[in-house]
Amino acid sequence: MRPAPFEYYAPTSVEDALRLLEEKEGAKLLAGGQSLLALMKLRLLAPPALIDLNRISGLRYVREDGNGWISIGAMTLYDELEQSPLIRTRYPAMHEALYRLGDQQVRNRGTIGGSLAHADPSANLPPVMVALKAQLVAARRGGERRTIPADEFFLDAFTTALEPDREMLVEVRLPPWPRGSGGTYMKLSKREIDFSIVEVAVQMSVDGDGRVKESRVVLGSVATRPYRATAAEDVLSGSVLDDALAAKAAEAGTKDLEPPSDVQASSWYRKEVAKVLVKRAILKAWRRARGVEQ
Ligand SMILES: Cc1cc2nc3c(=O)[nH]c(=O)nc-3n(C[C@H](O)[C@H](O)[C@H](O)COP(=O)(O)OP(=O)(O)OC[C@H]3O[C@@H](n4cnc5c(N)ncnc54)[C@H](O)[C@@H]3O)c2cc1C
Repeated sequence: MRPAPFEYYAPTSVEDALRLLEEKEGAKLLAGGQSLLALMKLRLLAPPALIDLNRISGLRYVREDGNGWISIGAMTLYDELEQSPLIRTRYPAMHEALYRLGDQQVRNRGTIGGSLAHADPSANLPPVMVALKAQLVAARRGGERRTIPADEFFLDAFTTALEPDREMLVEVRLPPWPRGSGGTYMKLSKREIDFSIVEVAVQMSVDGDGRVKESRVVLGSVATRPYRATAAEDVLSGSVLDDALAAKAAEAGTKDLEPPSDVQASSWYRKEVAKVLVKRAILKAWRRARGVEQ
């Protein structure tokens, strides 16, 4: 189907984009269009105006700051991030999530900013951002910036902490994790290009004896926003892992889940798969943190 008629604007600066967003009531920002245009073609959305962010220079980058943080511009493409040696070596969980995101055509157009702002409960990147303790930078008119921890950014399905009609996401900041850290991302989907039925991102750091110092276990597709399995993290804290402890953590971390049932899978099935994936991901992240697996 064709979308309903709309006005089209292509600003060349963040300030102009924000001005248009405030002035044109109901307008939508356009990034890669991989979700927005599909919704418009199905006539589930009919914004009166689109504000295309693709002509704004300076929103596509991956760079390491002096203090070890990595900054990513909101318009950076999935493919650029997947190819980035910084992301692959420093954040394997994110690299795996990108590698398993849609198909090559989607990765050639989709952006990190579009994905996070869209906040699909089954999207690959939101749980990874929470696991990595990312900070998301929102811009307002007049050069004002606000930093939102990923933990507080995803409020509900397709709902974020960005102020509607007033703020846009401009940057994602990833903190350095100490030496002796590792992570992974795992996803079950019917076909490789499909959205997940269940997904999990794990990031952890260990001490010299292999004891878990800090861990973040975050699930997607099981709730309306990324689900932090803090009960699993509590079991892992201070422990040297083995198969039984990973199973105990997975059991504790998924016990209170009440995942949705839909055409893809029942709630029961999602919960069972979540337990299996969490256990596998914990063990893999621990092996990576100890440097015994790439
Ligand atoms: C065939 C197919 C398969 C897919 N499979 C997967 C998958 O397996 N996993 C997955 O995670 N995703 C998948 N996707 C979705 C894809 O990740 C989209 O790219 C993503 O959801 C939106 O990113 P975008 O850059 O295309 O944003 P758009 O579609 O352009 O925008 C999405 C929303 O975000 C808003 N927005 C965009 N940029 C900003 C910004 N900087 N600040 C504030 N708001 C903004 C827009 O106004 C819009 O509401 C798939 C898509 C397709 C078409």
